[in-house]
Parts: sequence; C-alpha cells; structure tokens
Amino acid sequence: MTAEDIRPERLSRPAAASADSAYKAHDEANFRRYLEDLKGLALAAEEVIAGGQKGSFSAGKFDFPVNAVWDLKTPSTLHFMAGIELVSDPRYAHAADLMVRALLEALAHLCWIWFGEPATNRVQVKPGMCLGDEGVGGCTAERRAVCLALGMARVFSDNIAKVDANLVPEGTSAAVQERLDRLTEIHKKLGCTGTGRTWQDVRPMLALLKKQGRIPWAHDLWVAESGVAHGLIPDQYWSSVTGVTMKGGPAEPEARKLLAQWLVKTYFNFAYCCVGILRPAETKRFREMVSGALTGWTLQWADGEK
Ligand SMILES: [Zn+2]
Repeated sequence: MTAEDIRPERLSRPAAASADSAYKAHDEANFRRYLEDLKGLALAAEEVIAGGQKGSFSAGKFDFPVNAVWDLKTPSTLHFMAGIELVSDPRYAHAADLMVRALLEALAHLCWIWFGEPATNRVQVKPGMCLGDEGVGGCTAERRAVCLALGMARVFSDNIAKVDANLVPEGTSAAVQERLDRLTEIHKKLGCTGTGRTWQDVRPMLALLKKQGRIPWAHDLWVAESGVAHGLIPDQYWSSVTGVTMKGGPAEPEARKLLAQWLVKTYFNFAYCCVGILRPAETKRFREMVSGALTGWTLQWADGEK
C-alpha cells in the first residue's frame, strides 16, 4: 500500500460530518470507511519505517537504536489497529482509551530515543536516572535506545521475581538475566551511568515536550487517560445514543470520532518518531504523506515541525 492508495476525500469526511447534529446511517458508513482507510495509512507508514520493505523487519539482537524502536513499534501497531477496531463498534469504542494510553507511553519512550531529556528537566536528579541529550558527549540515539532496552529488561526481570516461580516458563529467568547482563555491559561501555529508563520517565518526557510547545496535547491526554488506565474514572461511559441516558450504552458518535482523532494524532506521531530515528532523510516525505491523507486536519509533529 502506498500513500497514493489513500483517498483524501474519504479521510476528510468525518471532520465535516461532525458539524451535523443528526447522525445518520450514511455518516456511520462513511465513518467506518474512514477507519478502514486509517488502517491503510498505518500500513503505508509501516513501509516507510521499514525502508520500503513489506512484512517483518530484522536486525541483530543488540543492534541499536533499531532493536529498541522495533520493540516499541510492534505492540504499538497492534494497539493502533485494535483501537481502530474498537472505535468502529459503538458497543466497545470506549475501550480504545486504553489503546491511546499505551500509544502515548510508547511515544514518550521514542521521543527519549530521538531527542533525549536533559537533566535540567528534573527538579531532582536521582542516582540511576538515564538523562541527557545531544548536548551531552556520547549521549546519542544509539545510547538512549540502550537506556530504554536496559530499563525494559530490568522491569521484565523484576516482574518475574515477583510472581510464583511455577508461572514462569523454564529458561525464561536465565534468558532475561543474560539479556540484562549484556545490556548492562553495552550501556556502561557507551558511557551512561544510569540504570535504564522506566515507566516513571514517561510523564517528565511528555512534560518536556509540552514545555517546548511540541505536541503539548500528548501530556494532557496522557494525564486524562491515566484515570481510565487505573480504573479510577467513575464519570465515564454515559451515552444517550439509544434515546435513554445510560451508563455503558453504545458510545456517542462524537466520542468515537474523538477517540479516532486521538489514535491518529498519537500513532502517526509515534510512527513519525520511528522514521526520525531510523530514516531521518524521510521525515519530510512522511509528514507530507500523512498530512496529505488527512485533509482538513492540522497534525503537529513531535520535532516541532508543522
Ligand atoms: Zn542510560
């Protein structure tokens, strides 16, 4: 699939339709076609990230930054596609909030790899934190990707240690330990004194982008989705779509459109960061491809490009 396969007039229709107060059957059909087109656009984006290759993408086990980018990209593409599927069914659309949240977390990690995070972004710098950007000698995208991979391996190792040993498939602990040891060695050799990036680094990274005026909505959306992810949003899921205001009813069309927008803004920025890290010469073409397909929208990009 190429960008030319995406018909812009179809992608632009939901934005125009949202001004209508009455939501009709043809609006629903248009919306579902729009969602299908978004999946096509995601496939076109994937091809750019993979350097024109279709299907799977292989790299050495310790080839960075590729390895860390791909470890984030694989689940994120699934989350985006699953989010689109959920939004297409009013009964389950609200569950896409969780997909948005997962995409935002992955986006923050990718932004760390691409741009870094200076120590000045933190009120208190604690030992073990992986911080720095291009202004710090040796703090390259390769090193920052290792910081992330190390953090991932450490969390995996810690989680295994917390559960009943019978639940962990044989050989897993040894394999994870081996990976942790190898990454610790590479990380040290690259000159970072931290212990790996973690989930705790997500909010500061998004807050930094917001401070810099780059995709400022990402931080706020992440905060808004936090309650949902933690099961702490009681005033959610009201709907009058059936004529009776009820909790847990089919999602309102406007709510579904909003969820689709959040998925688009987050995922295509995520994909853009993959391109920025792995294929910097392709960023402009990528922006044009996505913006061209999403007529009527102004997407902001993680590197500040318009
Ligand atoms: Zn580090």
